[in-house]
Amino acid sequence: MRIPFNKPHLTGKEAHYMYQAVYNGKLSGNGEFTKKCQRFFEERYGFKKCLLTTSGTDALEMCAMLCDLKPGDEVIIPSYTFVSTALAFLREGAKVVFADSMKRNPNMDAETIESLITPRTKVIVPVHYAGVACDMDVIMSIAQKHNLLVVEDAAQAIDSYYISHRCCDGRFAPSGENPRKEATILPLGGIGHLAAFSFHETKNITAGGEGGLLVVNDERFIRRAEIIWEKGTNRAEFFRGAVNKYGWVDMGSSFLPAEINAAFLWAQLENLDDIQAKRKALWNCYYERLSLLGKNLRKEAGVAPFSMPDVPDYASNNAHMFYLICRNLEERTALIKHLKENNDILAVFHYLSLHSSAYYVDKHDGRALPECDRYADTLVRLPMFYDLEIEDVEKICEVIKGFSFN
Ligand SMILES: *Cc1c(COP(=O)(O)O)cnc(C)c1O
Repeated sequence: MRIPFNKPHLTGKEAHYMYQAVYNGKLSGNGEFTKKCQRFFEERYGFKKCLLTTSGTDALEMCAMLCDLKPGDEVIIPSYTFVSTALAFLREGAKVVFADSMKRNPNMDAETIESLITPRTKVIVPVHYAGVACDMDVIMSIAQKHNLLVVEDAAQAIDSYYISHRCCDGRFAPSGENPRKEATILPLGGIGHLAAFSFHETKNITAGGEGGLLVVNDERFIRRAEIIWEKGTNRAEFFRGAVNKYGWVDMGSSFLPAEINAAFLWAQLENLDDIQAKRKALWNCYYERLSLLGKNLRKEAGVAPFSMPDVPDYASNNAHMFYLICRNLEERTALIKHLKENNDILAVFHYLSLHSSAYYVDKHDGRALPECDRYADTLVRLPMFYDLEIEDVEKICEVIKGFSFN
């Protein structure tokens, strides 16, 4: 019995909607399915303006273009992230400044951000790793104080939330007040000025392999976002009848996906609640079994040989990923091998530290980022996809139980 790491899920309606898209007679982007998908996000999460893109990387590139950076402007990003987070801003001539991860989970340590700010800093890019929120109250208040933009890399964060204790007028609930009373639940991707989601086949839902979404929460950027999306033309305004001819008005590229991709995505969006419920059931099964195993091993040996994924009080879990943190690289390598050799279970590590990788090492200022390096060495991801069954998760946990932790 082979258990792959990921397998894209089909709801059954994808081909049907793709067929409809083809026979609608409009194959290029911004047709009916694109509009349906965009409206879905705007209505369900209250995002101001949504534009489908051909990838999450593209959505990040649009964000970077909208930030209107000058050469030498600085952008603070975590080092523990996918490379697109950095590339999007480097392409605009910006300098990336790497933040370390937190001790408790791989997200950027919001408490260290302020020490990285210089007069050239323009943007902070929190990445919601594994769909678990960064501490957005802290990040947004730093941004406000220093007049910076916030771009959320919400590539992994569909249908996930942050519990904010900020009041409507932007101030924090004073410590005397019951913070719960003041709490508001905000969807990830709806907090920063701009945000990017990914619908790559490895994410919770996919647009047929590749796809993404730009979210514009700050209205100032809407007009320019539409222009950049459509090769620097004001075509959107023209189609709305707001201008009587369209021209070449700005920078841009071709960021919009074809209708068949939007049609595929629509089938997945219609089933989002079902997809999320199943993934969360699998995630919870992993969590229960493995935290029990960890406790038992700690009783025997005095220390737990691995730590569990961390979801802070202020965050929700969208079951994008199930990971464990091993004690060191050797043990992680051995565990991955053990899983492969027993039942052919595919577990995988994740990011290498960006700040020490080939293309970035001489762009980095040399600061040590020990937490990021630790996750690069010790984090292991277990199979997580819709078509996985509870019995598979139980089997995987049994195989982990059979591993001899030192
Ligand atoms: C997947 C991912 C991206 C890139 O998305 P694509 O759709 O593959 O281009 C960017 N950032 C993070 C954190 C991701 O996980």
